[in-house]
Amino acid sequence: MLSAKDQKTALEKELGQNLESVRARINQALDRCGEPQRNVTIVAVTKKQPLDRILALTRLGHLDFGENYVQEGLEKMRAVGESGIKWHFIGGLQSNKAKYIPGMFQLVHSLDSLKAAQALHKKAGSLGLVQEVLIQVNLARETQKSGVVEEDLPGLCREISRLENLRLSGLMLMPPLARDPEESRPYFTRLRRMRQRLEEDLGLFLPHLSMGMSQDFVQAVEEGATLIRIGTLILGPRPGCAYVPGS
Ligand SMILES: *Cc1c(COP(=O)(O)O)cnc(C)c1O
Repeated sequence: MLSAKDQKTALEKELGQNLESVRARINQALDRCGEPQRNVTIVAVTKKQPLDRILALTRLGHLDFGENYVQEGLEKMRAVGESGIKWHFIGGLQSNKAKYIPGMFQLVHSLDSLKAAQALHKKAGSLGLVQEVLIQVNLARETQKSGVVEEDLPGLCREISRLENLRLSGLMLMPPLARDPEESRPYFTRLRRMRQRLEEDLGLFLPHLSMGMSQDFVQAVEEGATLIRIGTLILGPRPGCAYVPGS
């Protein structure tokens, strides 16, 4: 029988190996595209994951965590406590929930409306801070997905860059669910080009591309990702979720 302490160690070992293997594949992808110096942050996606797994990951020194749900995220923050952890908000952002984000989540990946931007701006202003945000783009125009469609992106960027309590620092993408990760690549390429065009046309500095999940992060890194959002490959399958990437 394993004691509780040994079990913890076994869990930490498992998660540590998962992290190392993702990091090794990132480094290989960066070498392949000739950019070994590019910084790629692994955001560990905690939605629906049990707290013991999240805590084990923090004990390994992992600092970037992503949540889809405001309420669930705030509960996890309380449980995990303050320890230099950076929380990323990656879920659908309703403007009535935006007021809970500034001061709690350091980076919003999924901003997709002016209304939510104004709510974030107002709350950040009242706290005397600047909220860093990315805009989520819905390149495939999937009706069930969050994100702005391509033609609305320049206008929204312009409006957001006028809000002094927001700092727009890049774009985020969730490509359509695909069997083969290579099907995601054209979307990643398009997002990178879109970022470049916005920087040139609007004079913005957009260093971040948040793209790539368990199934397609290698392709995303090869196409320029600086933030990848990984759930299953690091924390394991979500309880009650039959889907396993790559299976
Ligand atoms: C769930 C989720 C992820 C991680 O998905 P995995 O396939 O488990 O890596 C990444 N980004 C968003 C927005 C998600 O909702």
